[in-house]
Amino acid sequence: MKGSSKALVKDIARQRISILFGLAERALQDEPELSRSYVRLLRRISSHYRIGLGREMRNALCSKCNSVLVPGLTAKVVLASSKGYAVYTCKRCGAERHIIYKATKGKTRKRG
Ligand SMILES: [Zn+2]
Repeated sequence: MKGSSKALVKDIARQRISILFGLAERALQDEPELSRSYVRLLRRISSHYRIGLGREMRNALCSKCNSVLVPGLTAKVVLASSKGYAVYTCKRCGAERHIIYKATKGKTRKRG
């Protein structure tokens, strides 16, 4: 058997994070409080196991109030197309986030 149990634990943690993210998205409209508590929990798991959330998930979460940012629902989006980024403003707390969408191809793998 290759692969340490540590890697397995991380794997399970990663799965839990993506499940919680899905739950947070689903609860967003009807139960925003619940949705944010899911996000808080997934952030806790992420920092405990030192698992990065990945750019996509990080961009979809308000770093200030833990809301899932959905354009038109919980976030206002303004495109700064000439600059290659979008400004997401959280409707709940007003925090702004610049999201670069001129994606550079190719993933860089980080050591975990
Ligand atoms: Zn916010």
